[in-house]
Amino acid sequence: MVNLLDFDSDQLIAYCQGLGEKRFRAIQLLRWMHQKGEADFDRMSDLARPFRGTLSAAAEVNALPVAREHASRDGTVKWLFDVGAGEAVETVFIPEDDRGTLCVSSQVGCAVGCRFCSTGHQGFSRNLSAGQIIGQLWHAEHELRRRLALPPHQRAVTNVVMMGMGEPLQNYSALLPALRLMLDDNAYGLSRRRVTVSTSGVVPMIDRLRADCPVALAVSLHAPNDALRDQLVPLNRKYPLVELMAACRRYIEAAPRDFITFEYCMIDGVNDTLTHARELLALVRGAAVACKFNLIPFNPFAQSGLRRSRPEVVSAFAAALDEGGFVTTVRKTRGDDIDAACGQLAGEVRDRTDAPSRMTRAPVRFMPARRTTARVERAR
Ligand code: SAH
Ligand code: SF4
Repeated sequence: MVNLLDFDSDQLIAYCQGLGEKRFRAIQLLRWMHQKGEADFDRMSDLARPFRGTLSAAAEVNALPVAREHASRDGTVKWLFDVGAGEAVETVFIPEDDRGTLCVSSQVGCAVGCRFCSTGHQGFSRNLSAGQIIGQLWHAEHELRRRLALPPHQRAVTNVVMMGMGEPLQNYSALLPALRLMLDDNAYGLSRRRVTVSTSGVVPMIDRLRADCPVALAVSLHAPNDALRDQLVPLNRKYPLVELMAACRRYIEAAPRDFITFEYCMIDGVNDTLTHARELLALVRGAAVACKFNLIPFNPFAQSGLRRSRPEVVSAFAAALDEGGFVTTVRKTRGDDIDAACGQLAGEVRDRTDAPSRMTRAPVRFMPARRTTARVERAR
């Protein structure tokens, strides 16, 4: 069976043309799947009956099955998707007043092995397919719309961040069709500034992304020099800071009104002194990269042997960057009570995937529907 969620618009057109159908039939099909969340070809009423029959025999709309769902007191919802072989990936929805952000996974585990990341500690298992990546948005968007009884033009997910499990730029061939669907007006119609790829710094793929689909880029920096970054983000040994900064500059040159978001995980006594902050300022000034900083207080997990920086240390660090002339935000920790905070996504995944029967369906508390005025049909 061909999984139609694996195809971006051009690929779906090619597939349908291969079945002897016109281009506009593929667009209708795309809209049924992604705008309406329909998986049953029989219900796609404006497709000719024989075409529906052909599709039913040869193809499917197959997102990952939900193994479990948790809703947090603060409105965050986390889905655990079953990827088979006792493994799972996670997707997190974070509602705020003016937006709804979905944090999407790209791999089962991760090969980069960052010192402070529980996914990294888990090791690499395998890549998700394009359909398994976009399927996370497909499920979340349509499930949330149903529950919130949103009118057809109103979307639940207004922003996507590729900040779940895995290194998206190490699964590029699956990432790209998924990103294209997120931006496609016949699918999710998100503007490219509302879709963020977060990377630990796969330099050649940053250039590929710039050429293929220049969405917002977040780079996980975590250290202001190679000696420390080598320890925290092992990929730095392959692509050191001078190369990473040059790739960031090239990325921004292609889109001059944009900026890079540098993520910086604040770990007690490791990377959080004012000397580090000053070194960081010198690094980004030297590289002449238009950027903002996002400080993420480290989320501890068993066996990490690391502690979160104290709040006053985080504030002082943020103030130093701010005074240095760079917009700096400190990420609020959301969904703590359901282990959905950054870097906790992988925690004990293997233990949790045993039974859909244990699926919890706690009442979901969402932010009021005034959250967004964005329209699905008119995306930009
Ligand atoms: N692999 C990509 C995207 C997934 S991680 C990347 O590394 O950018 C998303 C963000 O969460 C990254 O900035 C990552 O460094 C951060 N992160 C990972 N583990 C964390 C932890 N334990 N506490 C806080 N942030 C963490
Ligand atoms: Fe992989 Fe990102 Fe975790 Fe590093 S921080 S191990 S790149 S998921």
